[in-house]
Amino acid sequence: MHSVSDFELEVADSVQANSAVFLRRAASELVSIGDQGDSAFDQERATVVTAFTQMALELALASFLIRKRGLRSIIQGSDNISDAEMEMKWRDNTLRTKRFEDNKALLEVASPYTYEYFEGAIDDFQQKRNKIVHLYYSFDEADRFDLKYESAYILIHIVSKLMFGHEDSVNYPERLKRTLTRDVFAKLVRFPPYVLYISRLAEEHSRNVLTCLECEQRTFSDIEMKCFACTFEYPHGRLIECPNCLETAVIYDNLNIHINDSVPARCLNCAQRSLAFHCSECRLDTATFSADDCRYCSQAEPI
Ligand SMILES: [Zn+2]
Ligand SMILES: [Zn+2]
Ligand SMILES: [Zn+2]
Repeated sequence: MHSVSDFELEVADSVQANSAVFLRRAASELVSIGDQGDSAFDQERATVVTAFTQMALELALASFLIRKRGLRSIIQGSDNISDAEMEMKWRDNTLRTKRFEDNKALLEVASPYTYEYFEGAIDDFQQKRNKIVHLYYSFDEADRFDLKYESAYILIHIVSKLMFGHEDSVNYPERLKRTLTRDVFAKLVRFPPYVLYISRLAEEHSRNVLTCLECEQRTFSDIEMKCFACTFEYPHGRLIECPNCLETAVIYDNLNIHINDSVPARCLNCAQRSLAFHCSECRLDTATFSADDCRYCSQAEPI
C-alpha cells in the first residue's frame, strides 16, 4: 500500500476539485429547464454533455489513483524524475500525465471492485468524446436519447465513487448534494430518462422495489438495501412486516432497538409510520401501532 504524502494529497484534492467543475456543468446541462425526457438532446447539448461527463470521469479517475497509488502512478516517465522535480513541474503546470487508457488499466489492478462499475459503461463514451475534441461526432437520434440516462448514470454511480470512495463509510447522496447543490442533485436523481432506466435495474435486484427514504422514488431494493437512483444505502438495515399493508417493508433502527423500549419505524411500501420493538417473548423485532403488541405473539395459538 502506497503511503500518500501531503503534497500528493494536495494534488489529489486539486484534481478532484477540477473533476467537480465538470461534474456540476454536466449535471446542470442534463437537467436544465423544460426537459421532461421524452425527446432526444440536440447535437449541441449532446456534444457538451458528453465532453463534460467524460472530463469529470477522467479527472475523478486520476484523483482516485493518486490517493490509492501515488502521483507517480499517473505521470509519464516517473522513473526518471525526483520528488522535488515532480513537485516543481506540478507547480509550473508542466507535469505530463499518462493516457486515460493507462489509468483505466491501473484501476483494474488497483481496485477491481470499482473497476466493475467502470467496465463496459464508458468505452463507447470515451470514443465519442475523443471524436468531439479531435474532430466531430455526429450523434444519431438513438445516441442523443441514450446519452440522457448514460451520462446521469456515469455521473452518479461512477464519478462519485471515484471522487469520494476513499472516505470511510461515505454517504454518497450527502457528498453529491454538497458538490452539485441540493437542487441540482434532486433534479439529477429524478431525471425521467435516468429513473426509467434505473427502475428496471432495481427490479432485477429486488423481490419488491420499495420507496427510498432519501429521494422518495420507487427505486430502493429490499434485497440490496440500497437505492439505485440516488445511491442511498442502509447496509446494516433489516426489514420487518408492516402492520398496515403486511409487506416485509418496514425500516427501523435495528442496531439500536435493543437499548430502547421502541424505535420509530416506517413502511417503505405504504409509507405507514409505526413503532418497532424487540419482543422479549418471541425474541423477534416487530412493528406495531401500540407498544407491547407483538405481531408474532398475538398471532400464535394460545397454549
Ligand atoms: Zn433514493
Ligand atoms: Zn406498509
Ligand atoms: Zn413476540
